[in-house]
Amino acid sequence: MLAQRMSLFPASGTAGARAAAKAAAAGGREVLDLSAGEVICEPAGGAVAGAIAALKRGENRYTDTVGIAPLREAIARRLSSETGQVWSADEVAVTAGAKQGLFNAAMAVLNPGDEVLVPVPYWTTFPAQVLLAGGKPMHIDTRANGYLPRIEDLRAALTPATRAIIINTPNNPTGTVYDRVLLGDIAELAIDARIWVVFDECYGSFVYDPLRHHNIVSVVPEVRSRTLVVNAFSKQLALTGWRLGYVAGPPEVIAAIKALQGHTTSNPNVIAQHGVLAHLLHERDAGFERGLHHRLCQARSAGLEILAGLEREPVPTAQGGFYFYLDLARLLTARPRAGAIADADDVTRVLLEEAGVAGVSGTAFGDPSGLRLSYGAPVEILLPALRRVVGVLNGMTSPEHIRVVA
Ligand code: PLP
Repeated sequence: MLAQRMSLFPASGTAGARAAAKAAAAGGREVLDLSAGEVICEPAGGAVAGAIAALKRGENRYTDTVGIAPLREAIARRLSSETGQVWSADEVAVTAGAKQGLFNAAMAVLNPGDEVLVPVPYWTTFPAQVLLAGGKPMHIDTRANGYLPRIEDLRAALTPATRAIIINTPNNPTGTVYDRVLLGDIAELAIDARIWVVFDECYGSFVYDPLRHHNIVSVVPEVRSRTLVVNAFSKQLALTGWRLGYVAGPPEVIAAIKALQGHTTSNPNVIAQHGVLAHLLHERDAGFERGLHHRLCQARSAGLEILAGLEREPVPTAQGGFYFYLDLARLLTARPRAGAIADADDVTRVLLEEAGVAGVSGTAFGDPSGLRLSYGAPVEILLPALRRVVGVLNGMTSPEHIRVVA
């Protein structure tokens, strides 16, 4: 018999999509996998060298629960240069990936029944963690506004129970980037309503010209005392499996997170900590991050050129991150295959079965009319996969297909 809390959330939709792709491949199918939430490449060399050196030095023991001091200091220095404000190590907790950072943040600030504003489409884990912490996700639909929340919708959703808002820019899955005006409005709303801002900037290194990533704290410094910045090295250094991220915020919240982490996982992996520290100290200015950005820029441009061939779906804006997010609303209204295809789950299944292309259905992100395709995949997989996607989507309402189903 399981605890009641286990029925609060479904299993991760993105993990499910990856599993479906793997199962198809294990069954002998050629699968072009665009479902992964990571860039498929070697991790940052400086971090690898730092990790190897740490192993050789025999760094095998527990560390401070929220990370070794030099790493917290290096993160604080980086935040200081990114936000133009001074940060110190006691405002930083290093966590096992951003996912643990977000979970700890939810546990540290939410009381049972607290409401949390979550723009939809959302990264699949946000509402699950709010529920686990006893809170209530309040979904704000952004689909009619270019996948950005309208400030009036956010204000209308405020109640006396509202305790926090989760902002993720660049956004997973949609790739949208919040501009300074919107961030300023959100900061003002948070200050007026006295709520927390959980600011997830895991994809902050991946924003494409002419846009720029802005941390809400650098736009409105007054919001800093109620902001928990969450970030990770997972995506920016291509070491998702190492599990290293952080939360930065007021020292009393960081102290609470330390107490919580002390009873759950203790410190994040020591070797990963030393590896990332080496990157931050010695390699940060080297070419790795620039090279990764360049690769993604090229993949994005080549991908968008192919997606321009879609007859019904608007070409995605893909302003940041490494996801193309397709709006399938017009396709679904056309009742593809005589109504046999009703939502993005069906489209995703057909793409896997007929084109051998794995993506993630928008239902994983609270949007039954979206489809996420990652351009973190190697280009030799990405480009043929996108050509197949265009072919299948364009052909989905053709008379031959209707006949096949009928
Ligand atoms: N936040 C967002 C928006 C993400 O997309 C992800 C991973 O996909 C995470 C947090 C978690 O990152 P990590 O792998 O560092 O836990």
